[in-house]
Amino acid sequence: MADRVVQSYKVLVGLEIHVQLATATKMFTSVANASGAAKPGDVPAEPNSAVDPVILGLPGVLPVMNKRAVEFAIKAGLALGCKIAKHTKWDRKSYYYPDLPKNYQISQYDLPLCYEGHYEMQTEEGPHAVRIRRAHLEEDAGKLLHEAPGGYKIDYSIVDLNRAGTPLLEIVTEPDFQTPKQISQFAAELQKIVQFLGVSEGQMQMGHMRFEPNINVHITAGDGRIYKTAITEIKNLNSFSVLERATAYEIQRQLNEWLETGSLGKKSTYGWDEPTESTFHQRDKEEADDYRYFPDPDLVPVEVSESWLMELKAQIGELPGVRKKRYVEALGLSTADATTLAGDRETGNFYEVALQGAKDPKRVSNLIINVLATLANKKAQPVHKLGIAPANVTAVANLIDQNEISASSALPLFEKALDQGADASLTMEQLAKDLGLIQSSDTGPVDAAIDALIAQNPKSLQDYKAGKQSAMGSLIGIVMKSGKGFNPKIVSERLKEKLK
Ligand code: MN
Repeated sequence: MADRVVQSYKVLVGLEIHVQLATATKMFTSVANASGAAKPGDVPAEPNSAVDPVILGLPGVLPVMNKRAVEFAIKAGLALGCKIAKHTKWDRKSYYYPDLPKNYQISQYDLPLCYEGHYEMQTEEGPHAVRIRRAHLEEDAGKLLHEAPGGYKIDYSIVDLNRAGTPLLEIVTEPDFQTPKQISQFAAELQKIVQFLGVSEGQMQMGHMRFEPNINVHITAGDGRIYKTAITEIKNLNSFSVLERATAYEIQRQLNEWLETGSLGKKSTYGWDEPTESTFHQRDKEEADDYRYFPDPDLVPVEVSESWLMELKAQIGELPGVRKKRYVEALGLSTADATTLAGDRETGNFYEVALQGAKDPKRVSNLIINVLATLANKKAQPVHKLGIAPANVTAVANLIDQNEISASSALPLFEKALDQGADASLTMEQLAKDLGLIQSSDTGPVDAAIDALIAQNPKSLQDYKAGKQSAMGSLIGIVMKSGKGFNPKIVSERLKEKLK
């Protein structure tokens, strides 16, 4: 015991993620995908209502591949920088469990649809690269319930097959994470990506994303020798917080086990127990051979043509990360503003349209983030559904840039536009006029006001002439107050001119 000292250690964590795809129908049959397409607040489907002979594994049925699920998987793979297989196939993974009526799961074994990906995260410590080993498609199993719906106690288990056959994308990373924080950040970014792509609802509480970290530690002992703990996998974590805490716990547990017993542990799976905030041993791990993988004779292989791939790339368009980078580098937005606009596809698209014909990208960004977002919050609507057209944002941005209205007039102007409803005949400029927000650029009334001011305020005037520059501000203020809708820029110019 005394000679076991941790001099240093290196953590290696790889992540497996199962993402339920939000297709309308299941992976290999036309029955509704009740689980993957469910949104929070939806009424759950009656148990065992989203089933058919294929899901039940009845004799004589044949599975048919859901093309949309393959497209969703390819889109996610592309977003993770993966290569897409030109040729792939389906394999049977055999095992017995009551939630799997066929006694095998259709999955992909040696030819995953997506492979060798590369994804870069921006962390507080700088860029962090994550290699994606593979992302393959498979079908989900049903659910075993140990309590009847409604919370009734039963002394047996019952099965609900609504989830069985839901398309799942299983993503496997290389062991490229060193801290629990990196893992939860990746998980959160992956959620954003699948939601942006529209391939999954990505709702944690609905079980749309399930995480399984594979963890081990390379310990450098006091004598300089390196001890590698056996890899353990924590099953079925479905929140970012649990993912982070469970990983941290398991790293420490492996270190402690070696320190206390000298054991490096056994390759095994663990579960997470939230009440005690600890992992617990479930079972030692099977080797792949136990599953007797073999190609499914009922399904034809999948060929991914170059033209199909191009079509899907075009549908993806610009990814959030790329868009964000462009906003910062080409348009000069702050990282925070670029993140807000690019993080959501609809908001980003709204911004793109509003940019057309606008002079200043930052002005347009400010209007969306500071003004429209305020209104959107009030109305509990996303910006693009607020009822204000992007062209109206362009118009207001240009009115401000041309000094026709002040920046603070944008909020009342948009509020008025919303009140007017869909009356497209009123331009923003006309609305601004109706509201008296247009600043006059006619110098006549400004000059008259300045002359009156000079006559009435000899003190400020003397101060300014004596070199007190701060007096200018109060002079402008006095002129602005004396008339309606003066343009502060013009007032300032005329004042300086007259006081020369
Ligand atoms: Mn799987």
